[in-house]
Amino acid sequence: MGVPSVFLRTFGCNFKCAGFGMPKGELSREVEDIASRVHYFNDYKKLPLVSTGCDSYASWDPRFKDLSPMLTTDSIVDSIMDMLPHKRWMSEHLVITGGEPLLGWQRNYVDLLSHDKMRGLQELTFETNGTQELHQDLKIYLHKWSISRSMGAITFSVSPKLGISGEKWEDAICPDVIYEYSQVGHTYLKFVVATKEDVEEAQAAVDEYSKRGFRGNVYLMPCGGVEKLYSMNARTVANEAMRLGWRYSDRLQVTLFKNEWGT
Ligand code: SF4
Repeated sequence: MGVPSVFLRTFGCNFKCAGFGMPKGELSREVEDIASRVHYFNDYKKLPLVSTGCDSYASWDPRFKDLSPMLTTDSIVDSIMDMLPHKRWMSEHLVITGGEPLLGWQRNYVDLLSHDKMRGLQELTFETNGTQELHQDLKIYLHKWSISRSMGAITFSVSPKLGISGEKWEDAICPDVIYEYSQVGHTYLKFVVATKEDVEEAQAAVDEYSKRGFRGNVYLMPCGGVEKLYSMNARTVANEAMRLGWRYSDRLQVTLFKNEWGT
């Protein structure tokens, strides 16, 4: 948080997370309503923000796919370079996020990271839901990539989905996958929670990951893509993190930018 970073958001996700912000057992219909009016929008940035379900729905729901640009590696790199304040890499991080960025797009990351203009990049983070194994080619490439850089050059920021998301435990909690990430880069877990029950579920998940050999940090993050919802439980979540000896993660993009598209 607070580190100058460029976010590359890829399209597609294996989850829907329609349970966020909803009473237990219910799923959000907000995106369904927006999808029924999709022809009124010509750019994903004009789509309404939602207060329940996945706040990044435009980055994975096929009904909105045509609103996102399809870009070549060259044009992605040029856009990134244009965003950098000095038009070259200094201390900025590249964060590859989604949707779920470790789906089929894995095939393209070697091409992206080996691009001439990407040579100066020193720190790379994958923001993932922790369910996708790494392709062998990417794994080998990342090993080499990190050797020529400082410790911690690669981070897997894993946000495993608990019951609060509406996704099933058996699909969402994948200890072997997290262990694999931890062999390639610095890996931490970040759980989105709203109640004590969610925190207990996070503890059960951490137990599973630990049994498989995971030894990284654990963060709790309050649920809520809109400030009102999020600020309601931020303090409780911070207290729970302190009680368990875990870390607390804020949602800076909600406070600073009200979670608008592109933040
Ligand atoms: S895993 Fe992330 S991007 Fe995918 S639906 Fe859930 S919250 Fe949204």
